[in-house]
Amino acid sequence: MGGGWGCPHEVNDHCLKINNLKCNPGMKGCELAGRYRFADESKNTRYWEKKAREATPAPAEPSQKPD
Ligand code: SF4
Repeated sequence: MGGGWGCPHEVNDHCLKINNLKCNPGMKGCELAGRYRFADESKNTRYWEKKAREATPAPAEPSQKPD
């Protein structure tokens, strides 16, 4: 991956995080997957899942019953 940002997992355009595959930012398992939205909509599944979770409030803890 060229450009200004250097992924710490990338060495010689290959991803040490994902079986030394050619770096493809946003692919499954990528550090960036789910954190950013990509132009390639097929990479955004995790992003949208995360957004949906953020929009849904976590279920409240069951309140303690007074004795
Ligand atoms: S695929 Fe993702 S995690 Fe792997 S080197 Fe590229 S940017 Fe980094």
